[in-house]
Amino acid sequence: MKKRWIIVVAVLLTITFNVFSESNEKIELTSYSGILKQIAGNWFLNTGEDIIELSLAPDAFLKENKIELTSKMELSVNGILQEDKLIVHSLVIEEIELPIRDAAGEALWKNKPYYVNPDKCIGCRLCVSKCPNGAITMVKGVAVIDTDKCDGCGICADGDGEKYQGCPVNAIKQTE
Ligand code: SF4
Ligand code: SF4
Repeated sequence: MKKRWIIVVAVLLTITFNVFSESNEKIELTSYSGILKQIAGNWFLNTGEDIIELSLAPDAFLKENKIELTSKMELSVNGILQEDKLIVHSLVIEEIELPIRDAAGEALWKNKPYYVNPDKCIGCRLCVSKCPNGAITMVKGVAVIDTDKCDGCGICADGDGEKYQGCPVNAIKQTE
């Protein structure tokens, strides 16, 4: 009986240690410097060796925080490469670091995520490739938004200011 209690306590201690370690896990960021370039509404960094697509923050957030980006400007960014995009945690402009995500990698903006009305979606897939965060997938012919990945930029619903005009059947809305 005593042995069983020792095992239970040991298991609980292990679980507590793991949870504590995970919550304190430090995110390793990589820095990249280069020349900024906007292509079809998306930002890219030309490092001289690579051209990396940047996942930044919604324009409204950048504007509010007086972060003005222009093509050809020199920029350093700190972030994490995920698939073929750099999830930017902070930008460095003229030696000033401007965070756009917190230490845990959470976005500092608070836009509510978007969702798709499955009854309206006609499965055209137009929104899927336009999402800068890869938050939209097709499930049984209908677009579905992963709210954990969605940062509420609104591109899927309202367009990217370039060729994409937003969902053609108004199937995407922001959560209330
Ligand atoms: S653009 Fe609209 S209709 Fe087309 S897949 Fe996305 S949600 Fe569905
Ligand atoms: S609002 Fe739409 S385009 Fe923007 S991150 Fe969310 S799902 Fe992607």
